[in-house]
Amino acid sequence: MKVNRPWVKEYKQQERTVDNSKFYNSRTWRKTRKLFLENNPLCIHCERLGVTTPANVVDHIIPISEGGDKLNTKNLQPLCKKCHEKKSASESAKKRGMGKKLSVYKRCTSHDSQNFTHE
Ligand SMILES: [Zn+2]
Repeated sequence: MKVNRPWVKEYKQQERTVDNSKFYNSRTWRKTRKLFLENNPLCIHCERLGVTTPANVVDHIIPISEGGDKLNTKNLQPLCKKCHEKKSASESAKKRGMGKKLSVYKRCTSHDSQNFTHE
């Protein structure tokens, strides 16, 4: 599943390409993933918000590309698809140095709309 973002192209060349597909297809990972989901069946992000959502993605807290431990359960967290997509999106935004900009922009707009409704 790849999102086409033509405007990211120039950054792509600088990024180190880490091919993890072999690892994700390995029997060891499948086994670890299955076991982990059996022991941690709920999305922890949703759980923090008081929502119970079954997890179907095992996410690496520290990405493998950043040297995170592939199979250590301490580096794994159960996520639902939605939360995982959100996490990957904010991670790639951070990589592009847009994380800060985005949050500032969000804060400004909510502040503005607040003022607007109060007046
Ligand atoms: Zn979730």
